[in-house]
Amino acid sequence: MKVLLIDADSVIPNIALMKLSAWHKSLGNNVELMRVNLPYYPNRKKTTFVAPSADKTYCSVVFDGNADYIIGDNIIFGGTGFDLTIKIPAEADEFDPDYSIYPNNDTSYGFITRGCIRNCSFCKVPKKEGYIHKVASVESIVRHKKVKFLDNNILALPEHKEILTELVEKNIKCQFNQGLDIRLLDSENSDLLSKINYIGEYIFAFDNWKYKTIIEKKMNFLSWRRPYQLKFFVYIHPEMPLAETVKRIVWLKENQCLPYIMRDISCWESENSNFFVDLAAYCNQVHLFKKMEFSVFLEKRHKNKERIEKSKRLWNENL
Ligand code: SF4
Repeated sequence: MKVLLIDADSVIPNIALMKLSAWHKSLGNNVELMRVNLPYYPNRKKTTFVAPSADKTYCSVVFDGNADYIIGDNIIFGGTGFDLTIKIPAEADEFDPDYSIYPNNDTSYGFITRGCIRNCSFCKVPKKEGYIHKVASVESIVRHKKVKFLDNNILALPEHKEILTELVEKNIKCQFNQGLDIRLLDSENSDLLSKINYIGEYIFAFDNWKYKTIIEKKMNFLSWRRPYQLKFFVYIHPEMPLAETVKRIVWLKENQCLPYIMRDISCWESENSNFFVDLAAYCNQVHLFKKMEFSVFLEKRHKNKERIEKSKRLWNENL
């Protein structure tokens, strides 16, 4: 039997598809992966993908709307961008991921926990995964020299300090790439984080200006950090006051932290869409953010004076 796996838009190896691959191979089926690489950004050109015929076809979609660009007969769709309630068969979930379908990958990916204790309005995690709970051991995830844990709120797990201790003691080179909840930091877990063989920046979130006071308080536990070793996801929605976005970015720069702008999809339809594009281009390019102010960045990025002046005005009015 020929099994086709379509990865519509994952930027990292897709765990569900890797598990389906392992399961079908164990049944003696021929498995083929096709990556479509559809972009998240709604303003980017998206080309429709017509799936070739197969006896069974699965497609995983991470970003909303991308399923519309995958065409074919009897495709079994799933993924956060399609339907939160669809899960892979329980038999497939028992298998270790088959990394061989992503031959250029050199990193293990996995979840020690699923779920979250919080309920942020823009986030699908609590709806999809429920309350925080442990689903796997560190050992069961590590298959490469580098590991990226996809946990959404590892610090919310009551036994997270034991897990961090294990990472330290085993010198596992890793990162929690979905972010850590800075509101749950204390001197003990911060000390453990500082001792982990960490990949890149420590990522937290500054999703709302109202968290400034608690973030400032918790930063006291992070005195070990080097300049720009902390990165904060900065969620933006057009209905948020612009001043609360600009102030978060200014605060991060003043505190030698990096922002990573996460735009809600509605930003592209907003009257300030160009401003949001400029902000993301500035903040998400580390070398530019570190070395220049936003106004200088705009002058270098655009020739159109009107565009430059509008973005500058929105920034200055909201400082
Ligand atoms: S803390 Fe993070 S994972 Fe939890 S609900 Fe909020 S955004 Fe989602």
